[in-house]
Amino acid sequence: MAMKIIQSECTSCGDCVPVCPTKSITEKGGIYKINKDTCNECEDQDSPRCVAACPAGDTCIVYA
Ligand code: SF4
Ligand code: SF4
Repeated sequence: MAMKIIQSECTSCGDCVPVCPTKSITEKGGIYKINKDTCNECEDQDSPRCVAACPAGDTCIVYA
């Protein structure tokens, strides 16, 4: 139960990082990744915050 980032769609803008309530999105060397062990798909609301924040939306961040 987690989201993942499609690297070919990610522009490394960083907009998804601050909106994640579980701090599951991290950056290393310009590559952004979602920790599948801590992402809970924003189960407390209807849809994932990271998808809403991402300029490329659900083409970039998808259900893993
Ligand atoms: S779905 Fe929610 S918990 Fe998972 S990475 Fe996105 S913002 Fe964080
Ligand atoms: S908001 Fe989207 S494009 Fe920006 S770093 Fe996150 S996944 Fe990549």
